[in-house]
Amino acid sequence: MKSESACASDPLIELVEVTKTYHSGDRHVEVLHGVSLKIYPGEFIAIIGASGSGKSTLMNILGCLDRPSTGIYRFMGRNVSGFGRDDLARLRREAFGFVFQSYHLISTASALENVEVPAVYSGMPPRDRTARAKELLDGFGLGERLAHRPSQLSGGQQQRVSIARALMNGGHIVLADEPTGALDSKSGAEVMALLQDLSRRGHTVILITHAIELAGQAQRIIEIRDGRIVSDLCPHPSVREAENLRSSNHRMRTNESGASFFGGALEAAKTAVRALRGNLPRTMLTLLGIVIGVGSVITMLAIGDGARQIVLDSINAMGTNLLLIRPGQPTRENLDGNVASLMPEDATMIAELPNVLAVVPESVGSVTVRVGNSDYQTQAIGTTPAFPVAYHWLVGKGVFFSTEDVTNYASVVVLGQTVADHLFTKGVDPIGQYVVLNNVLCQVIGLMAMRGVSPQGQDQDDGVLVPLTTGSLRLFGQRFLRTIIVVVDNIARIDETQNVVATLLQSSHQTEDFQIRNMASIMETAAATQNTLTTLLGSIAAISLLVGGIGVMNIMLLSVTERTHEIGIRMATGARMKNILQQFLIEALIVSLLGGIIGVVVGFGAAAVIGSLGTPIKYSLGPMLLAFGCAFVTGLVFGYMPARKAAHVDPIVALAT
Ligand code: ADP
Ligand code: MG
Repeated sequence: MKSESACASDPLIELVEVTKTYHSGDRHVEVLHGVSLKIYPGEFIAIIGASGSGKSTLMNILGCLDRPSTGIYRFMGRNVSGFGRDDLARLRREAFGFVFQSYHLISTASALENVEVPAVYSGMPPRDRTARAKELLDGFGLGERLAHRPSQLSGGQQQRVSIARALMNGGHIVLADEPTGALDSKSGAEVMALLQDLSRRGHTVILITHAIELAGQAQRIIEIRDGRIVSDLCPHPSVREAENLRSSNHRMRTNESGASFFGGALEAAKTAVRALRGNLPRTMLTLLGIVIGVGSVITMLAIGDGARQIVLDSINAMGTNLLLIRPGQPTRENLDGNVASLMPEDATMIAELPNVLAVVPESVGSVTVRVGNSDYQTQAIGTTPAFPVAYHWLVGKGVFFSTEDVTNYASVVVLGQTVADHLFTKGVDPIGQYVVLNNVLCQVIGLMAMRGVSPQGQDQDDGVLVPLTTGSLRLFGQRFLRTIIVVVDNIARIDETQNVVATLLQSSHQTEDFQIRNMASIMETAAATQNTLTTLLGSIAAISLLVGGIGVMNIMLLSVTERTHEIGIRMATGARMKNILQQFLIEALIVSLLGGIIGVVVGFGAAAVIGSLGTPIKYSLGPMLLAFGCAFVTGLVFGYMPARKAAHVDPIVALAT
């Protein structure tokens, strides 16, 4: 019964009192009851027994796909009980090659790629890997079938592919679990011949079968019944020398480094692309989620930034060296300006202050402008000659009124473009013409340059300008001012000047019935308001990106579930947890990054369309990088969970799916 006497040298694998108990719910079934066994290098062993006797369970333990529940497993004298999952994966990768009854090939990969898989995880350079895989397949008569998918191959051919895969990393120990079980007798005989040949070339072959006639081809037959070894015959004592062991020992150490990070990532990326292409409609839908997310972030931020830019530009265009004085108590909102507290005298006083370059008082009233039979209702501003300078808004044609005009209550008017367009037919020069403003006959002396529409959507060219005195006395019938604009000389001292103006007005009015703000602070407020808008738009968009991310997670989880079998195959052939994690993470990243790139393009496209419809748009690099970064992080974060799930799949369970 004992084979030790017959087989010299140290055992390659030694099992001591190994048991295996399966747990399902609160049921515990012991399948192996204390199996002790020594396997020597170079042996050709058949393990036979009836179906359900525990052969596959034993094979999984021998091949380090599964661990014993109790007992000791020694591999080349080393107890592997303490090995982690990745150590076991390394052992599988370097020492074992598996051949299964149902081949267990990756269905989406070609014959060549299937054979290459174990070498991917051992870090063999791609060129050597492909060359070796081709050589192996050639040797098995499959040289013409390299690019065929498993479904395009016969059973016998698939089994030969799987044997080639078992040999890819050396396959010093070939574990074949009912390799002929699914084959016709001719293909079965071919596979047996291959195993014989491997045995002759020095491989240790462990064949599991329930067919006694196949077992007869082995040198040693171990019979197992109900989880116990009942006989262990060694008909042809092993004569292999320890040399074999040493050479395999040597070769087993060569690949310890494993795959390099980038090589691994590249392989994983290829696999990922294949997987994504394999289910194109689903990939497209997931992509769409990310594209919409990234695209909307970019579009929204472009709109928000565009709106802000317009506001800031219009304020900037006026200059920041301005103080704005309005009537009314500082605490009260008073935008219509009809509080009667600012007078032209205030403006005159302020003009005397140091650091004041110019003062522009403004009174406002509504007027009817008439030329011939046509009249036009608009707004008139009574002001002083400094007005164009203060607003950086110049006269387009003709002249602006002078200080004399103001002193003399001159009946002159400068028209805004819109007013001129309404009152004068094209080709008629308005300069020098007479118009009637609220029954006062005035001569048109100038035409303001076109100013356009304000950020609030107001036509800024719809108005006329008259001398302050003319306005207040002859048109509006009141002298109160709506605004006084103070142009400051040295902007560095604007706060100081603001205080001086405030003190002056306070002492002359005996009360604080005015508001002073400087342009810089107005700009800050405006920018802050617009930032809020941008943030709001951005967050709405970010939510859609989040939804896109959840889509990625969803598809990845599905993908993991669907490809559990593939994961099992990869693990059986030596993939580390890291490799599996990396593969699924990279898949999630590819979807997200691809979605990100398309999203950026779509986002810019959408912004351009919206821009061409008249909404101000501002492109900036920031949102683009942000959205792209978000897509990347989304892929990483939402891909991690499924990837982790994949990496923790138990190879045995996965292979059984
Ligand atoms: P064989 O390969 O000899 O047909 P197995 O090793 O596959 O036998 O199975 C031995 C026994 O263990 C069977 O009774 C089977 O039902 C049981 N078994 C196998 N795998 C599991 C498992 N994962 N969970 C529970 N029971 C199992
Ligand atoms: Mg079995």
